[in-house]
Amino acid sequence: MAQVAVIGGGPGGVSCALWLKRLGVEPVLYERHSIGGQLHDITLPIPDLPGEPWIEARELIARLKQHLFTWKISVFEGREALEYRDDRVLVFRDGQEIHYPLVAYAPGLKVRQLNIPGREWIAKKSTTEMLQEPVSHPILVVGGGDRAFEAAIRFAESGRTVTLIHRREGFRARPEFQRRALELGIPIRVNAQLRAVEHGSPGLTAHIEESGKITSIRLSAVMVRIGMEPDIQPGLCSVPQSDVVPLWAHSRVRCLGDAVSPVAFRSIVSAYASGMAAAKELAMNFKCEA
Ligand SMILES: Cc1cc2nc3c(=O)[nH]c(=O)nc-3n(C[C@H](O)[C@H](O)[C@H](O)COP(=O)(O)OP(=O)(O)OC[C@H]3O[C@@H](n4cnc5c(N)ncnc54)[C@H](O)[C@@H]3O)c2cc1C
Repeated sequence: MAQVAVIGGGPGGVSCALWLKRLGVEPVLYERHSIGGQLHDITLPIPDLPGEPWIEARELIARLKQHLFTWKISVFEGREALEYRDDRVLVFRDGQEIHYPLVAYAPGLKVRQLNIPGREWIAKKSTTEMLQEPVSHPILVVGGGDRAFEAAIRFAESGRTVTLIHRREGFRARPEFQRRALELGIPIRVNAQLRAVEHGSPGLTAHIEESGKITSIRLSAVMVRIGMEPDIQPGLCSVPQSDVVPLWAHSRVRCLGDAVSPVAFRSIVSAYASGMAAAKELAMNFKCEA
């Protein structure tokens, strides 16, 4: 009989499910999309996974799936958990309710959004999803980190016209991304802030503030990549005002992975370790209760 529900099929959730199984507690893994989490967004080979230099993310996803399969762990993809009710019932988006005495919650991160007029017109899709659509441009990318630069570079390399704006002068993006953006001639506007997006026909108009002056540009899409934040469902874990997600959402839901890690620790190895620590605590709690 299934004993612990693991929510989230990124590296943290997969690690937790494998460790639970190893510790003699039967997990069931639920993933809203498909196993891999943020690994699906990694386009360059991963340089820093010990023992696996330059592994491609899609290869790592395939190995994680194979590991779950070999260990006979029940996996349900396309299942989103919404709420943990009455300390025992896990409620899913499709209305199904299943009893679990303990839950491991590894939801990862979501893209932070700007709270500006017209925010509903900002693209919700990933870069990969946008690249799969028929060519439409120009595109505005907002942000100065790796994710903003990587998105802008991929749009430019696919032949789309793209502009990048950043509210400061310096960038957090790694130097090779900055060099590549220069090589591709991507226009970069610094000390520039997106203030509003308007929908017209055709396309969008972005209103950008620079040195106190607003200019407007016509676009087909606006993408915001200004950082990530924990992707927490309030029904599974209510985040206190401080925004620091607790390890135990309550006595039966153990949070893990990027969602509970300081920014500097967010990584695949850290998610693996977090999954292991959570599994050990959950297994101990389970055996105490049994
Ligand atoms: C572009 C990019 C490059 C990166 N490069 C590296 C790198 O080189 N090296 C490195 O170590 N790390 C890298 N990372 C970071 C690494 O991918 C993450 O640290 C790691 O994936 C975190 O794992 P996680 O399991 O905590 O969360 P995630 O990978 O975010 O997985 C969370 C999963 O939970 C699912 N989920 C959320 N809520 C629910 C719900 N209610 N019900 C069901 N499912 C739910 C989500 O769909 C998602 O699949 C990179 C990340 C990105 C985006």
